[in-house]
Amino acid sequence: AMQSDDPTIAELLSAVPARPRLLVVDDQPINIQVMHQIFGSHCQVFMATSGQQALNFCLSTPPDIVLLDVVMPGMDGFEVCKALKSHPETSDIPVIFVTAHTDAHQETRGLELGAVDFISKPVNPAVVRARVKTQLTLKSQSDLMRRLVFLDGLTGVFNRRYLDQQLPIEVARTVRNQTPLALIMLDVDFFKRFNDCYGHQCGDDCLRTVATSVRESLRRPADLVARYGGEEFVCLLPDTPFDSAMAIAATLERNVRSKHVAHVDSDFQIVTVSLGVTATCGESALSVTELLERADQQLYQAKNTGRGRVCGAVLKGQVA
Ligand SMILES: [Mg+2]
Repeated sequence: AMQSDDPTIAELLSAVPARPRLLVVDDQPINIQVMHQIFGSHCQVFMATSGQQALNFCLSTPPDIVLLDVVMPGMDGFEVCKALKSHPETSDIPVIFVTAHTDAHQETRGLELGAVDFISKPVNPAVVRARVKTQLTLKSQSDLMRRLVFLDGLTGVFNRRYLDQQLPIEVARTVRNQTPLALIMLDVDFFKRFNDCYGHQCGDDCLRTVATSVRESLRRPADLVARYGGEEFVCLLPDTPFDSAMAIAATLERNVRSKHVAHVDSDFQIVTVSLGVTATCGESALSVTELLERADQQLYQAKNTGRGRVCGAVLKGQVA
């Protein structure tokens, strides 16, 4: 197995699932049972007996791989594959078609729609196991590479590019699932003075300390922290109502303070952060811009009312 001393990389490597999530889609339960016998001991096997069910599952809890029947009443396998590939949230999930009617035309069509492989029924357990394993390995490697591209080189948290990519996805999810979404924007207080006083090398160390403190303070896997620019960071917290986000922000503020990084040119004599919090209730339409602007306004408020504190406001969007 791969190993690394870099804590961020180690964290990413450990995120490769030990028991991958496999979704089997087939209108015949007997076929699902066969796959369950083949994969049950190595994978978490989930099932869907219709195309629509498969799409809903993939959108709410994306699996690591999908084994997809072609011939199904209603939405057929080709349509399901096309829909999966057109959604940014599901387009990276590898799809393997499993079908009794293999011909070159069908297989070509499936591959053109974005499937990674084509397996014929009745399946040979060893063959299907080997092919799934290959695709799972490729998937976890490409996930890892993708994530490395999205890390901030200085602090090891995600970079702005990743945040820009995830924001619309999380906003779409919150509107669709009617769940709350919170955003915390935080900024190191008197950072320019810190650099002037201690030099840029210490400034970099200070940013790393703050970033690490924030990352370690967010415990849920879906929580995301990104360096937004300069000395500014953003935390995106799915499924988090406003009150919880305020409590989390207060914890972040306290935890940075507890690092006791000396800052003689700060009103507090140590490094502190100011935080702006906003959250949506899920029932309203909202834009990424509004979410960022509202958090930024609250951050500005925190700066203007003394720094080293949290300000927040619920975002009320228009009814969709
Ligand atoms: Mg079928």
